[in-house]
Amino acid sequence: MLVVLVAGGAVAFWKWGLPWLRTRPPKPTGELQVHVLDVGPIEGDSILIIAPGGKSVLIDAGDAGKGKLVLDALKRYKIEKLDYFIATHPHPDHIGGADEVINAIKVGTVVDNGVDLSTPAPTPAPAKKGAKPAPTPKPAKNAKLRSINSFFDEYKDAVDKSGASHEKAEPGKKYDLGGGAILTVLAPTEPFFTKEQMKAGGNDTNANSIVLRLDYGDFSMLLMGDAEEQTEARLLGKELNLQAAVIKIAHHGSRYATSENFLKRVQPEAAIISDGAWNRYGHPAQAVLDRLKASNAKVYRTDLQGEITLITHGKVDSGKFYEIKTAKEATEDVWTGREGQKDDSSRSGFIAYGDFGPPPKPRATPGTTKPPRH
Ligand SMILES: [Zn+2]
Repeated sequence: MLVVLVAGGAVAFWKWGLPWLRTRPPKPTGELQVHVLDVGPIEGDSILIIAPGGKSVLIDAGDAGKGKLVLDALKRYKIEKLDYFIATHPHPDHIGGADEVINAIKVGTVVDNGVDLSTPAPTPAPAKKGAKPAPTPKPAKNAKLRSINSFFDEYKDAVDKSGASHEKAEPGKKYDLGGGAILTVLAPTEPFFTKEQMKAGGNDTNANSIVLRLDYGDFSMLLMGDAEEQTEARLLGKELNLQAAVIKIAHHGSRYATSENFLKRVQPEAAIISDGAWNRYGHPAQAVLDRLKASNAKVYRTDLQGEITLITHGKVDSGKFYEIKTAKEATEDVWTGREGQKDDSSRSGFIAYGDFGPPPKPRATPGTTKPPRH
C-alpha cells in the first residue's frame, strides 16, 4: 500500500510538479536598474537595463550624433559589454546613434524588427547597342548624403561588422537576463501594419515597433517603443498579461498612442516619457497627460527631469517596491503638454526626422490657454 502511494506520488510529481517548478519565474536575487537616458532636446529613445546578475540591455541609442552621450552613460554605469542591443524600429531618433555605440562597445546579440531600409545597391543601366559604356557614377561627396535612409545603412554596417549575432524579434520570446529578470517580446506581430491601416493617425513604422515586457519578481514594466494606438489595440486583443507597475510611454507621448483602453488594462502606477524640449510634434500631448492623470499614474519626463532611473528588488524592500530618481527637479509642470507645430502621423507626411531648427517658442503659461474641463 505504502509502496503504491510513494510510487504514485513520485509519478504525480514528475508529471505535474516538475513542469510547474520549471515554469515558475526565477526568484529575485538583487537589484534591477532601468535608466531612461536623456538623449537631448531634439528627442529620441535610449534605455539601459542592468539586470541583477549584471547582464545589460540597451534599447535604442538616440538620434545620429547621440551615440557619444549613450556611451558616456554606459561608462558611468560601468558597462563594458552589452549583452543585447534592441532596435525598436528603424527611425533615426531610435537607431541614429546605434552605429556609434555598436562600433565602440562589444554587443552580444542585436535584436530588431527585421524591417530593412537599406539603400539598394545601384544597378547599372543596360548598355544600348553601339553606345559608349556609361561612365561609372561618381561616389557621393559625403557618405552621409547617400540617401534619406543612410542612418539605416550605417546601423546595418555597424551590426554586420560587430560580430554580434543578429535576430528578429519574435513575439512571445523571452530573454533571461539572469538573477530573475526576464524580458519578453510582445510586439510586433505579423502581418505588419501598413500605411493604409494608419489613416486614422499614427505611423506604420512606429506601429511595428518592438514592444517589451520586463518582469522581475513582483515588478513589471512595459517598454512601448514608438507603438501607436493600433499596436495597443492588437495587444489588447490577445491573451496577454499587460498589467505593469511602470510603463515607458509609447512614441514620446504622442496623442496617437497611450489610449484610455490600453491604460485601463496596464493600470500603471508610474509612466516615464522620453521626450525632447525642442520636438515639433507636440510631445507629450496634453491629451495623453490627461489620460495618465485620469488613470492615477505618476508622470516622469526626460525633457523636464533629465535621465530617469528606476531601481527595484522585485519585492517590497525597506517599505519600497521600486524607486524612481530623476537627474533634476522639473521647473515646469509635468502635467502640461507641449504644443505641436507638426502632426506626428503618416497622413500628414510625418517623417520623424531632420526637420529641426531652433526650439519652438515657449509655451503659454499653464492654465491660460487650457479650455475649461467638463
Ligand atoms: Zn521616436
